[in-house]
Amino acid sequence: MSSPAGLPPTLVGTGDLFQLLRDGTPRTRGELAQLSSLARSTITARVDALLSSGLLQPVGEAASTGGRPPTRFALNRADRVVLAIDLGASHASVAVSDLSGQVLDQRTVQSDIADGPVVVLDRVAAIGVELLGGIDRQVADVAGVGIGVPGPVEHATGRPANPPIMPGWHDFDIPAHLGRQFAGPVLVDNDVNLMALGEYVTSWQTAPHLLLVKVATGIGAGIVTDGRLLRGALGSAGDLGHVQVAGAPQDVVCRCGNIGCLEAMAAGPAIAAALRGQGLDVESSQDIVDAVSAGDIAALQAVRAAGRDLGSVLATCVNLLNPSVIVIGGKLSEAGEYLLAGVREVVYQRSLPLATHDLRIVSTSAGSQGGILGASAMVIDAVLAPRAVDEYVARRIA
Ligand SMILES: [Zn+2]
Repeated sequence: MSSPAGLPPTLVGTGDLFQLLRDGTPRTRGELAQLSSLARSTITARVDALLSSGLLQPVGEAASTGGRPPTRFALNRADRVVLAIDLGASHASVAVSDLSGQVLDQRTVQSDIADGPVVVLDRVAAIGVELLGGIDRQVADVAGVGIGVPGPVEHATGRPANPPIMPGWHDFDIPAHLGRQFAGPVLVDNDVNLMALGEYVTSWQTAPHLLLVKVATGIGAGIVTDGRLLRGALGSAGDLGHVQVAGAPQDVVCRCGNIGCLEAMAAGPAIAAALRGQGLDVESSQDIVDAVSAGDIAALQAVRAAGRDLGSVLATCVNLLNPSVIVIGGKLSEAGEYLLAGVREVVYQRSLPLATHDLRIVSTSAGSQGGILGASAMVIDAVLAPRAVDEYVARRIA
């Protein structure tokens, strides 16, 4: 009799044991026995199965306690690769990472999301295949594909849901399309969620409650709680852009039709419009960042005011979610301390003391790599989960 994964009964739970090796720390059979409370014979059988599958490799010997020194084992990061894709409104980044999330090669190209799903997905898939060839890996080595898109997605099905800047993408079956070319799961999420996950896995694993806010042409947030993305019932959690700013003037009409939305007050186009009203020649978020870098007083003041508007909405989020860190990302975060100063000014004043006791408010450290790193982490989490490892081992040792 075999398990649902197809493993012989003695090997059921191999994927659970493997979780002790996920962090890359080499361990001996003895250490694994101690950590898992499993019998040595069980450990030996499961370690042998993981070695045969290729997921585990011997990495030298531990210090001997008398007799033959015991072998240590660790995750074989090169066993398979992950394809990570980050789609923006006008660009596409494609990367190949190993099973630890380390990017092995990457390319970013101009790509208009409005070209539609078939053109864009075939474009990034072709780049992925080229990158694989460049590092001597095959399409068959791909464990899974992670892809971030600039709009709302139903994560469970991988279908975009009425994305405002992605004409032709509504309800398109992204996993089915990419799944024709690549084996393994094709996981889709919105770009801000993946930025949050990327920031978490690279910089904040010690702070498992993280709120990432992307401030660019639009405003959105990704929420990590207990180390996992909080997506909500339909995947729209974190859509901060259309929360009303308290005290917003009645004449600020948002593109969504409501009055005084955060996005209409504090995103790039709103700041640029305000600055044009003062005679500055600014259009894009980059222009605003450039004006701040050049020390333009009006630009500094406008960005700081946008930070305060953002802070007034974030103060509510802090009281609701009690994050340990708020990370500000997106193009406007490059305006540096001025945006952060505005956010801090209001959040610390308006949130409850307990909620802000250990709260840090910082700029992104992953920057534009956040989406790629998050896409890779999302796939690795899925393909190295206990049941997925059981199934993989069963296939490889069959
Ligand atoms: Zn709105």
